[in-house]
Order: sequence, then C-alpha cells, then structure tokens
Amino acid sequence: MAKKTIADVELAGKTVLVRVDFNVPLDDSGKITDDRRIRMALPTIQKVLEGGGRVILMSHLGRPTGDAGDARFSLKPVAERLAQLLDEPVAFATDTVGPDAQAKVSAGNKIVLLENLRFNPEEKEGDAAFAAKLAAMADIYCNDAFGTCHRTDASMVAVPQAAAGKPRVVGFLVAREIQYLADAIARPERPFVAILGGAKVSDKINVIENLLGICDRILIGGAMAYTFSLARGGSVGESLVEPDKVDLANKLLATGGEKLVLPIDTHCGDAFRGDCNKRVVPAGEIPAGFQGLDIGPETARMYAELVGSAKTVVWNGPMGVFEMPPFDAGTRAVAEAIASSDAVSIIGGGDSAAAIEQFGLAEKVSHVSTGGGASLAMLEGKRFAAVELLDELV
Ligand code: AMP
Repeated sequence: MAKKTIADVELAGKTVLVRVDFNVPLDDSGKITDDRRIRMALPTIQKVLEGGGRVILMSHLGRPTGDAGDARFSLKPVAERLAQLLDEPVAFATDTVGPDAQAKVSAGNKIVLLENLRFNPEEKEGDAAFAAKLAAMADIYCNDAFGTCHRTDASMVAVPQAAAGKPRVVGFLVAREIQYLADAIARPERPFVAILGGAKVSDKINVIENLLGICDRILIGGAMAYTFSLARGGSVGESLVEPDKVDLANKLLATGGEKLVLPIDTHCGDAFRGDCNKRVVPAGEIPAGFQGLDIGPETARMYAELVGSAKTVVWNGPMGVFEMPPFDAGTRAVAEAIASSDAVSIIGGGDSAAAIEQFGLAEKVSHVSTGGGASLAMLEGKRFAAVELLDELV
C-alpha cells in the first residue's frame, strides 16, 4: 500500500483540499482543551504552503444533530488556534459548500477552514452532489484524517471519487499510520509479539483472530483475561466478564494454542477503588467478593520478558485499570518493557496511547497511533475505502 503523499505532487499555484481530523475536545465555554489533533496536521499544511500552494481544510467536529448553527460544534475556535500555531491568517468559512465558503476560496486566501462538515447531513450520507461541490474547489485532494479513515463519509470517499482525474494523495500523518499499522505488520521482524488488553473480549475478537495468523505470541491482559479464565473453568469472583463470550473465548483458545498467552496471576480488590483491600492470587482463583483489577506481578515480569525478546511489538488495550493506582502497575510494566526494547513498537490509539503518554514514555516507542477505531480496524486487517482509492506511488 505505497500511496502517493503530499510530498509527491507539484504544489506551486495549486489549491489543495485537505481532509483533516480537527475533532478536538472543547470545554463548555468552547475552549479547546487539547490541540494535539491540530498540531498533528501542521506538517502537511506547511508542506503545501512552502510548496507555493493554498489549502482548504475540511473536518468534522463532534456529532451535531439538527441546527446547523449550533455554536458548540463550530470549527471557529479551531481556526483561531490554527492561525496561532501557523502564525498565518486563517480564513474561516461559516458554511461548508455555501456562499461564504465559495467567497473565501475565490478571494485567494492561502488557508481556508470550512465550517463543520457534519452540519450537512450529506456528509454522513456520502452524498455525491455535496462531494462534487467540495471536490470542485481544489486541484488536489489530500486525506490526512487518520482518525476517520475507517469511515465512508462523503469527505472521505465520495469527495476523492468526485476528484477522479486530479491528484489524490495522503498527508504525512496518514502516511505514517499506514507505514506502521499496515506495512510493518504485513512484513514484521520476528518474533512479533502483540499485547491486547482492555475491558472486553468482544471489542477485540477480530483483532485477535487477525493477529493469530500473523503474530508469534499474543499476550492477553485487562478484564478480557477473565472471560478466558471463565472459559478454562476458573473462578473470577466479581470481575468484569462477558459470560456470553465464553464459547468464543474457548474457540480462540483452541485456535491460538501456545500463541495465546494468558496471565498467571491477578491483582484483585474487594471494591472498584484504589484504596480497597487487595490480594494477588493465581489466575482463575479470584475469591468471591473480589474482582480482578490488574495483571499480577508474575505476569508483568513474564510479559516484560516476552516483550524484551521481540523484534516487533504491537500493543492495544491496558493490562488493568491503569487510571486507578496501584492497578496501573501491570500496564506500566508493559509500557516500560516496550519503551526499553529496541523492537519496532506500535501503540494502538485510545487507552494504550493515553497510558503511554501518562507514563511519559511516548517518545521511546516507534509509533503511537492517533486513531482509536481506525487503528483497531487496521489491526483487524480491514482495508479502508478512503485510502484504497487514492493514488499509488508508481
Ligand atoms: P478498552 O476500551 O476495551 O481498551 O478498555 C479500556 C478500559 O478497560 C480502561 O478504562 C481500563 O480501566 C479498563 N479495564 C482494564 N482492565 C480492567 C479490569 N480488570 N477491570 C475493569 N476494567 C478494566
């Protein structure tokens, strides 16, 4: 999947329509509480500007329903923040394909940010006429919205379709995500170890099935380990389990054989609180009145050793309730083992990304994915229509 990037096209005098992911968190007063997603789009935007091109940026923000003027979902604060970060004026269009957007684009502004795509129901519907209006604004289409790549909204699929015949490329952020999540996994250096945790087996079934065909070992942690424990006839006390997924866990155990590695001990507590009464017990022996809240120290040691001998590591999902010390210990041990290994290390988005940031180790791994759902879909081996239809590097 070697896709053409924004660095592979002639930019001088061209207008580039860039689908970005500016879906940033805002507080009640409309202030941006974390501008990482804006900062991550800067390299692609700067590349266009340095190449002598102009950019039109489009994104969704939240899930507006109804009122197109609902200020809670307006991208206006993002335009202001982007202008500060770039130290350049950003023209904000108060609509997406309407008269203000057309006027701001025709006026020759170097950077235009269109209002929230999702103020138009056509965005979710993948409407071709809406997509054609967007595509007509520019000479080049660029997808740099990794967090949305698993979706088929108009801006992701219908717009590049409508731009057929013009260059259609990926931005630097999407290129990097593909490089790690698809290419490194397709041709991994071995041993290839995956670590999967989190609350539910049901969320990760497809990832486990896909990775069982690729990895040398899959280490299981988090609450989903207790559903496997149940399948093996163990006691799980009051732990979070999915009894209706026991058959499936059995099937995965049978297919996985030695590849699937389960915890050997469990750190449990008598309440879902950091200051509860605690015990470390062998896996599958959680007493009544207790719940598993983290992998135990022996498991943490074993997992760290397995990670230490790997050449490729993929991690998705915490080993325990990492938000609530001391039950962050297992997740921390795994994160530290990954950080100190020289393997190619890929951290899935969402909670594992939050954990590695929380421990201050994000700089010590090869790649921290920016997309939760999108990175999980990639680990499931899914192909994205939004990326597939873009130009291949020839
Ligand atoms: P997920 O979204 O499936 O990756 O799950 C992440 C969440 O699972 C985090 O908020 C963790 O606190 C939670 N989690 C991990 N292990 C446990 C556990 N043993 N019991 C309850 N919740 C857990």
